Amino acid sequence: MKWQEYQDAVGELYNQMNEFGIVKKNIIIPDKVTGQARQVDVWWEMQLGDHTFKILIDAKKRKEKIDVKDIEEILMLADAVNADKAIIVTNNNWTEPAEKKANHVGLDLRILTIDEATDLIVDEKWFMCKVCNEDCVILDNDGFLAIDGLVNWWLGGTCRTCNTVYVNCQGCGGKAIINNETTWKCICNLEWSVFENRIFADQIEDEEDEEDEESDEIPFKDENQLEIEFPE
Ligand SMILES: [Zn+2]
Ligand SMILES: [Zn+2]
Repeated sequence: MKWQEYQDAVGELYNQMNEFGIVKKNIIIPDKVTGQARQVDVWWEMQLGDHTFKILIDAKKRKEKIDVKDIEEILMLADAVNADKAIIVTNNNWTEPAEKKANHVGLDLRILTIDEATDLIVDEKWFMCKVCNEDCVILDNDGFLAIDGLVNWWLGGTCRTCNTVYVNCQGCGGKAIINNETTWKCICNLEWSVFENRIFADQIEDEEDEEDEESDEIPFKDENQLEIEFPE
């Protein structure tokens, strides 16, 4: 997931608050002192009596925890654009000093995981990618092939960020992760591969010696494969 998408997802999250005032996404507000343009991720205005209560919301997609200097930076931004309150939304927690600082100045810290963020903006989300943990898998690669008059079909999808491909063979129920270099043999004797983001299933010709060796083979024992839980 790109940071712009994370910012968008945070906007969607607060858009649900639209009945309590006005929510604007990704806007420019002039700095009250210098007049320079300041970018604000989400801006939420509420009418409280005679006063317009203004909340600045900052989206932070991070690999590291939010630290004190992030809090200070957002406090300065909130002051520069005359916000009454600031909220930081992040995917990845915060340090203890950061929490102390935030509590002291009345800044709210909120978690929105990448998983929850993709729920808000990606319609075709299948599940979160377990390889990169950074994005979701889209169910865009399903198909079927006929073997001996029987139709074999599969569900498949690709991670939007790392391009890992997930296959779920409906014939045997086998599940695997494959990519351009790795193929997977399922119990139905199909070899699964990826070429240019498309999934291919090829019937493996029976060979006497191969059959003895490999018929008892358990899927997911290939070191290039990962055993995974697929959603229902
Ligand atoms: Zn991925
Ligand atoms: Zn199979």
